[in-house]
Amino acid sequence: MNSKKIWLSSPHMGGNELKYIHEAFAENWVAPLGPNVEGFEKDLADYLGGNSYVAALSAGTAAIHLGLIMLGVEAGDEVICQSMTFSASANPIMYQGATPVFIDSEAETWNMCPEQLERAIKDRIANGKKPKAIIAVHLYGMPYKHDEIKSIAEKYQIPVLEDAAEALGSKYKGQNCGTLGDISVLSFNGNKIITTSGGGAMVVKDKALKDRAIFLSTQARDNAPHYQHSHVGFNYRMSNIVAGIGRGQMEVLDERVKARRANFEYYQNKFEKDNGITFVNEPQGFFSNRWLSCILTESFERREQIRLNLQNYNIETRPLWKPMHMQPIFEKYPQYMNGTSEKLFEVGLCLPSGSDLTKEDLDRVIEGF
Ligand SMILES: *Cc1c(COP(=O)(O)O)cnc(C)c1O
Repeated sequence: MNSKKIWLSSPHMGGNELKYIHEAFAENWVAPLGPNVEGFEKDLADYLGGNSYVAALSAGTAAIHLGLIMLGVEAGDEVICQSMTFSASANPIMYQGATPVFIDSEAETWNMCPEQLERAIKDRIANGKKPKAIIAVHLYGMPYKHDEIKSIAEKYQIPVLEDAAEALGSKYKGQNCGTLGDISVLSFNGNKIITTSGGGAMVVKDKALKDRAIFLSTQARDNAPHYQHSHVGFNYRMSNIVAGIGRGQMEVLDERVKARRANFEYYQNKFEKDNGITFVNEPQGFFSNRWLSCILTESFERREQIRLNLQNYNIETRPLWKPMHMQPIFEKYPQYMNGTSEKLFEVGLCLPSGSDLTKEDLDRVIEGF
């Protein structure tokens, strides 16, 4: 137990982050606006390409909340949400006083199952309420089945909020994750593929929507010399200090994706011959940033045995996200299930996946099994 702790996913600075922070101090841009905020937004928009407009915000959760507001979600509405995800995908539905409707996963990508999605929409409409939005998630960096989800969303005219918090650097048929939704959301929390210590962004397809996000995230001030308000506002803008970290991190994003993918391949090659351990492969046209390397084991008992062995070696792992429909706070809400996410939760484990892990670290994890 005297070997150093190996974490699940650590922040990994590139080197220039402090330079941008020093610039902010030198020019006294110590505020939720300034050149780093604009620079970071430009770096992200350039990276994502297409017709992306980016608003840097205080957190991914804040971006999801504002996204739902901009899609018109109000108290009493229903919002469809992937069940297997981090709670931050679903919590903003509750902030709006709306009702979450949970959808199970399919086994190929672990993301929203298109069949269950369509079953849910038909059923909700038959019950008298068409859902206001669909929150789909690229879990652990693996893109969801975008073509299928999008065609269902279009058929029923329901907008998609793309939760790409775990998927910056992932691609679907050549298109960057973070550009696939009507509104898309990124996170730069401490454990994500790049981090600003805490932060997020909303990605939209026109300037007016970006302006709307900035307006709402900076207390919704009307155009007047005094403080005047005709809307409820939020304090959700990213600070210029935090955005400086983001600018430094954008310089190394491609390296971070390479390193995380290399971790995954290393584990996969080592366990190729272990029949009990399987990995989720990229379907044709899918490119995952492999934010976290995850395994499936043959049973709950084996999963626990591996987790506890590694814990004894001072190595952090974590079971896959516990589905929202199984959470005490959410279990009473409507749900359209096929059994996949419960099974994944039972036998799945996330392994150490940081871009700063060495071969020796990875070998220590493998030995710890
Ligand atoms: C991290 C994460 C979020 C929330 O982002 P924060 O920046 O931590 O608020 C939302 N959804 C998913 C899937 C996440 O992993």
